[in-house]
Amino acid sequence: MPSATIRSATIPHDLHADYVRDQLVPRTVDVNGKTYFPEGEYVLYWMQSTQRLDENWGLRAAIRTADRVNRPLVIHQGLDPSYPYAADRHHTFILQGARDTARDAGARGLYYQFVLRPGRDDDRRVVDRLAARAYVVITDLFPTAGIRERVERFAARVPCRVLAIDSVCTVPSGAFEKPEYAARTIRPKIAKLLDHSIEPVAEALPRVPVSEALRASLRATVSEHGLSLCPIATMSDADIAAAVHSCDIDHTVPAVPLVGGSAAAAERLAAFVSRELMPYADRRNEASVSDGTSRLSPYLHFGQIAPARVVRDARASGASPESLDAFVQQATTWRELAYNWCLRTRNFDRLEALPAWIQKTMAEHVGDPRPVLYDLHTLESAQTHDALWNASQRELVAHGVIHNYPRMLWGKTMLLWTPDYEQARAHLFYLNDKYALDGRDPNSVGGIMWCLGLWDRPWGNKPIWGGIRPMVTSRAKLKFDVAGYIRRVGRSPSATAAPGLLL
Ligand SMILES: Cc1cc2nc3c(=O)[nH]c(=O)nc-3n(C[C@H](O)[C@H](O)[C@H](O)COP(=O)(O)OP(=O)(O)OC[C@H]3O[C@@H](n4cnc5c(N)ncnc54)[C@H](O)[C@@H]3O)c2cc1C
Repeated sequence: MPSATIRSATIPHDLHADYVRDQLVPRTVDVNGKTYFPEGEYVLYWMQSTQRLDENWGLRAAIRTADRVNRPLVIHQGLDPSYPYAADRHHTFILQGARDTARDAGARGLYYQFVLRPGRDDDRRVVDRLAARAYVVITDLFPTAGIRERVERFAARVPCRVLAIDSVCTVPSGAFEKPEYAARTIRPKIAKLLDHSIEPVAEALPRVPVSEALRASLRATVSEHGLSLCPIATMSDADIAAAVHSCDIDHTVPAVPLVGGSAAAAERLAAFVSRELMPYADRRNEASVSDGTSRLSPYLHFGQIAPARVVRDARASGASPESLDAFVQQATTWRELAYNWCLRTRNFDRLEALPAWIQKTMAEHVGDPRPVLYDLHTLESAQTHDALWNASQRELVAHGVIHNYPRMLWGKTMLLWTPDYEQARAHLFYLNDKYALDGRDPNSVGGIMWCLGLWDRPWGNKPIWGGIRPMVTSRAKLKFDVAGYIRRVGRSPSATAAPGLLL
């Protein structure tokens, strides 16, 4: 997608610093190259992957544009049953997040509307009709979870300009114009821009209010073919559960106790920086405890907390330099490397995207005998011979996350138990994205492709592994308390199986 910039002459003076920062490290992509629609009644911000109002660069750009052209701002979010792996787990987390956003918008005087599309046959063109009346549509830039493709199809259909803006990365993706090949290549570039990128920016409100007449006509536009605005701000947990139940989605992957939304994300961050960050350097690989890492990844995936805030608050915590550095490396270097890979690589989740040395070693070792093979059902229901692997799979199914250390072993082990590398890749994406609350993320791609050798160097030449770095569960006890981890996952009150799964 080509890059685009917004003309500076029209930016109000008080937002100029904000605007200049945006342009120094561009976040904006012009998706369709179309013109603004002069008769447009409002600026439309279509919230997708950045499910928050704070430090939301798409929303900031939408407010600036609305003020510049003297139009009101409409924030629209929808939830469809048709995204990949749509299930109670993800739907509940998104609805809880939307409830926070709606309440937050109400408190700030922003106009925010939410539309739930329960059935696959229900009206799928609400946002098209909203766009037909818009001066410009601004949305989120996100390369995975089907969002990039959805935005490209939408942008081709609608008459006005569509801009996609990156709020995912701390240092915006536009700062790295080329593919980065390893942590060591992106790390120094991030280091140069990080201080600047995490400075707090004053949030503005749009000048032109949304009139009662516009509210009524938006309601009418939404309900033209049977849907209606969802009263999400006032919904109770029971209402959300009932709404999820009414949707044509996979009901075998249940919601988890972890609550979605910007309020819960802020609480998790506060608890992490005040207590858990201090020993992070020593405890982050200790999978037998649940509080060794931040557990922020579901919130970061759904954009319910700003990554800049995470880094800023971590820096202000007074944690030791070792813990702070270890955490910031995860939250910036590895996260942004994954995002860069997905944004800049064709077929980023396919074997063919991997570097030439991996292709070569795979071709040499694809015929190696695999003494142990498991089918997908055995893997999914955690019935292998390996207690540690089964515990990781149980953690994924029951909690919607896996601790990072067992997650590496979980991913690497799949290479040993499948007939070829393609099957390993496909099973990993299926299991990760179906169950993980942080799944379908650039980090999902990064983590799984790393198991297949991405961003690594050749490591000798072993059967099945070839030159890919081997990692085996039998050596895990050197790294963490394996028995303690298995006990922790087993004794969790939420460690119940999805219907149909024997755990
Ligand atoms: C096979 C495999 C699959 C993975 N799938 C996902 C996934 O679907 N979604 C996901 O967010 N992460 C994924 N990861 C990366 C990592 O496991 C998680 O980000 C991490 O465990 C989240 O826990 P946390 O928030 O407590 O991390 P913390 O250690 O507290 O780190 C803070 C944040 O830094 C980022 N981060 C941490 N580790 C990594 C990493 N290795 N790569 C990139 N970013 C990182 C995450 O955004 C994380 O929330 C995967 C890793 C592997 C090996």
